[in-house]
Amino acid sequence: MDQVTVRCTVDNCHYWGRGNVCDAREILVTSEQVARKYPANVDTQQLSAILEEVGETPTGSSEETCCKTFRPKS
Ligand code: SF4
Repeated sequence: MDQVTVRCTVDNCHYWGRGNVCDAREILVTSEQVARKYPANVDTQQLSAILEEVGETPTGSSEETCCKTFRPKS
C-alpha cells in the first residue's frame, strides 16, 4: 500500500513540517466524542492499545473528527 501524505495546517504541533506536511510516523484521527476520553495527545506508542479499545467510531461530519496525535511544540 502506498504511504499517505498527511497535509496539516496546525503549525504549532510538534509533528508539523514545512509545506504543511505532517512528519509523524503515524497519527490517530478519531471522533471528537472518543477523543475527549483520552489524554490531550496520543503518541505512536499508545496507538495500538487505544485502537483496540475504541474500535470503529463513525461520525456524521468532518467537524466531528480530530487528530489526537497533536502535541504542542515545546
Ligand atoms: S500530528 Fe496531527 S496536528 Fe500534528 S501535524 Fe500531524 S496531522 Fe497535524
